[in-house]
Amino acid sequence: MSAPIYLDYAATTPADPRVVEQMVRHLTLDGVYANPASRSHMPGWLAEQAVENARRQVADLIGADPREIVWTSGATEADNLALTGFMRANRARGRHLVTSIIEHKAIVDTAIALEAEGFEVTWLTPGPDGRVTPEQLREAMREDTVLVSLMAVNNELGSVNDLTALSAVAHEFGARFHTDAVQAAGRLALDVEAMGIDLMSVSGHKVYGPKGIGVLYVRRDPDLRIEALIHGGGHERGMRSGTLATHQIVGMGEAFALALDQREADGEHAHALRQRFLDGLSACDGIHIHSPLEQAVPNIVNLAFDGVDGESLLIALRGLAVSTGSACNSASVEPSYVLKGIGVPHSQALASIRFSFGRFTTIEEIDGAVEEIRRALSGLRQPAEATMNHR
Ligand SMILES: *Cc1c(COP(=O)(O)O)cnc(C)c1O
Repeated sequence: MSAPIYLDYAATTPADPRVVEQMVRHLTLDGVYANPASRSHMPGWLAEQAVENARRQVADLIGADPREIVWTSGATEADNLALTGFMRANRARGRHLVTSIIEHKAIVDTAIALEAEGFEVTWLTPGPDGRVTPEQLREAMREDTVLVSLMAVNNELGSVNDLTALSAVAHEFGARFHTDAVQAAGRLALDVEAMGIDLMSVSGHKVYGPKGIGVLYVRRDPDLRIEALIHGGGHERGMRSGTLATHQIVGMGEAFALALDQREADGEHAHALRQRFLDGLSACDGIHIHSPLEQAVPNIVNLAFDGVDGESLLIALRGLAVSTGSACNSASVEPSYVLKGIGVPHSQALASIRFSFGRFTTIEEIDGAVEEIRRALSGLRQPAEATMNHR
């Protein structure tokens, strides 16, 4: 069996070969291998230099100062640090956090854990387009609200929140604004200053970098305090201890530098792919588009298929590597909480699939996927006729 067509870029991207090339230079004896915290010798200084260069590369993509970049093990840890670290450090000011029900699990489950710790959370329900409005946020704000966390781009829908407007509401009430921008990095223009963002999580492996590395941007402001979750040598301004993973960091830096160079080209490519994909499917009936195309990143398209059962659909589409959003939990098939969260009916949510593509996706792959979907739909929708034909 040939390899499936990979249309799951929102789950992870393959690393760009230029990233890997940088990474392997930062592991072995003939490269830069020392501990970047070793201040007493040249190999240590070289490693530190590599880390600081990567810090600047990441900062440049989001309009930050390199000193505002905190390395973590990924965006999951960055989200945990932002929410838990901030809420604990600011307990005396207020205990109220505002977020939404369609955030990534790294936010949702952290907020639930904070509730168990005695913090209060208001869970906003976005509209059917997957977006939270500034008016909604305004209504949820309280005197004791200290933090608002709303994602830049939803990972299942591709929907884009208006961060500038949302952060303005948070600030109006004296709260800080965090955003999980994992799916936005390299896809949207990001500028923490212009957008009024105090805390931002990003990940390496969603932007053609390696897995296992991420960043929390923490605005440099003496009044903005974060309590560490991981204690040790006091690395990263005391917010995240642990020997820096030079090769991972250098890989993420290179990936973010490439993203800055290629963001427009990547975006045009994704638009062309999406157009081809939707044009190819336009002949099929009974397809619902959950992604708000005008207000979404072009590389994520979430579709529902009428008249088919979700499980049969996945089996019929086994030539495609795609995601349903329903798998994550356990053996039971529960539909995606994101689709449920924007009001998609249960059975339709079960028959929904996220297609996501990226830098290395070709037009031929899109055409192959369209072909596969058409074949699957006609097979699944006419079981009676198909059976008759066999006789
Ligand atoms: C993938 C993803 C994460 C988790 O990132 P890791 O680096 O894999 O921990 C968090 N938020 C969003 C929106 C994501 O898509």
